[in-house]
Amino acid sequence: MQVVALHEGVVVARSVKWQTTCTVLHDGDETFVVDSLVYQDELDALPGILAQAGWSLSGLLCTHGDFDHLLGRLAFPDAPLGVSETTAARLRAEPGDAQRHLRSFDEDDYVQRPRPLSLGQVQALPVPGRLELGGASELELVPADGHTQDGMAIWAPFAGVLCCGDYLSPVEIPWIQEQGSRDAYLATLERLRPYVEQATWVVPGHGTPLDPQRALAILREDVAYLEGLPDEANLPLARRDRRQREIHRENVQRGAPRGPGGDGP
Ligand SMILES: [Zn+2]
Repeated sequence: MQVVALHEGVVVARSVKWQTTCTVLHDGDETFVVDSLVYQDELDALPGILAQAGWSLSGLLCTHGDFDHLLGRLAFPDAPLGVSETTAARLRAEPGDAQRHLRSFDEDDYVQRPRPLSLGQVQALPVPGRLELGGASELELVPADGHTQDGMAIWAPFAGVLCCGDYLSPVEIPWIQEQGSRDAYLATLERLRPYVEQATWVVPGHGTPLDPQRALAILREDVAYLEGLPDEANLPLARRDRRQREIHRENVQRGAPRGPGGDGP
């Protein structure tokens, strides 16, 4: 795990697994933890990172419902968990799905956990919307779907930090999952663009935090890739290893582009 401070109130930890990122946002007397780390020792280190800074947790936030972003409760079992309304609907529609994915991941890697993942009651946040942070600041919640059918990006103006979820990754090409949609993905990239342009840092769901120039370059590559699907998409130079070619094949197999929201239930 790697931990970096981007601002006096922003710390980003990055998992060894998939470079999944977990961002701590602090202002005034409030602290939110966005997304999660993956391995248990990484999760176990989180309360210490907050304690060292003298910050107490107000709640967990999650950019979308894929299991590797949802593991914050394994570090903070009693914390409230806030997600977008679309993610809350997905979690309701797929009860136990995140837990099943985690169990099968843990079995493959012989990972042991002190307790099973319990999502309990999740709080559905209106998106677009705002969330107060420590009295003087606000977080802006921005719809971000297309990778999956659900999700939000989180803009923290007090620090100029954008937590964008599974978009703008330097290590993963745009991945259109089963319920995702190419058109919705492209619309999300355009929605994120003005935030990226004014950001100091962009924190993707996978990979190292990016300065805005690099994030905009990735945005351009990703738009070109998505517009080329299914037949004429070229993988970005820095993202064409074996795993990325597999994801690309999956994107192509999804066939003709689908409208916003995909064709799922
Ligand atoms: Zn992810």
